[in-house]
Amino acid sequence: MLNTTVLILTAISLSQSACSGQPPERHRLARLTPIYDEAVCPIPKTQGRTADLEVASQDSAQNVVAAPFFSKRYNRRYFEAVFSTSAIATAKFVSHLLGGRLYRVQREFVMGEKLCPMFTELPLATAELYGIWEEQARKIQGGQARLAAIYFQLCDPARDCDDRQLTLPTILIDDGRDRWTLVHEMMHFNFDRERKRDIVNIGDNALDRISRLAKRELYAALDVFLKNQDRASLTIVEDRASWLIQTFAVQILTRSIFEELATEGLLVEEYLNRKLEHVSPSAARNAIWYMSHSLKLGSERFDEIVYSTSHRTFGMKSLAAFVRSEARAKGWHEIEEKAMNDEKFIHQFLLETTRLVEQTKLRYEMRTHGWNHALDSLFAFDASVKRAIEDHLVQMPASQIFSRWKAL
Ligand SMILES: [Zn+2]
Repeated sequence: MLNTTVLILTAISLSQSACSGQPPERHRLARLTPIYDEAVCPIPKTQGRTADLEVASQDSAQNVVAAPFFSKRYNRRYFEAVFSTSAIATAKFVSHLLGGRLYRVQREFVMGEKLCPMFTELPLATAELYGIWEEQARKIQGGQARLAAIYFQLCDPARDCDDRQLTLPTILIDDGRDRWTLVHEMMHFNFDRERKRDIVNIGDNALDRISRLAKRELYAALDVFLKNQDRASLTIVEDRASWLIQTFAVQILTRSIFEELATEGLLVEEYLNRKLEHVSPSAARNAIWYMSHSLKLGSERFDEIVYSTSHRTFGMKSLAAFVRSEARAKGWHEIEEKAMNDEKFIHQFLLETTRLVEQTKLRYEMRTHGWNHALDSLFAFDASVKRAIEDHLVQMPASQIFSRWKAL
């Protein structure tokens, strides 16, 4: 399970290979201060408006709105304030918002890589912050991904993280990253702050406490049930599993891995609306990839092992299925029905999230490559994804697309 005490939200991206087909040769020891050379920058760091720092000082509840993804609340004015600012101005704004806690991290030197360092005006991360960065970078090593930036609260045994207040909110950004990444990280801060203020949300520490208890009771009841096959313990198993699936898992996912796709979804939307400017087209393409990647990782959490003994292993999905089939076999219909609801819940939650991701993807493809390309990408989806976007397509003006798909 995820660590709920300290949530670190990252942005990762596909690494750009210097020469096609060959992975870049990595020289791990060197970290260099890159020199700003506008000739290699897709967008110059001064291109765009200056920032209105006044907005960063204002904190009004009436500017808080809900995002389409999971109804996550955020201050809309902070987002709008950086729509058309330059990279330098965006860094100034975000730094102001965080009370100065925005730092750059020198990039590892990669042979042949051309870098456009947009944030050389920012202070370098301290040794303590570099330690946090290195730890996160190690977690995503391998494959094509590379750490781009992180947002976190700096909590340790001496500085408790509070359920309702932010503790030293901090952003670290890789020297070679662009404005998109910085706005993305600022949105993590934005979501985090409003989440803590919204009393409907269970705080991180409280969630951790309640879930520990629920898990302990679940495991104990499961042990008893596997031995005695009794109704009382299966009732407890179902009840605790239900809370862990419908509340705990959803809260954790929507404030961690699924927050990644919520954030990118918002940025892509405003990019396609031509409101978010001075960002490179590759940033939007990368965001589309990152949304799908996060959806996949988040979905897999429901299959991760939550209970294991020498003879039984369960993930959240398989636990709900087990309770359902045991209850059915024994004629305990009330328990059977509740377990079925848990299974339906997981299915529905993932389906709705998939639908949002696919809608964003489809709009992006249509805007950037036109209808034909969008159709190609649509027909490449598997059957369940096609079903997931069915409703969306019916509502679209170009409904002939829908009939063409049905005819396949
Ligand atoms: Zn992120």
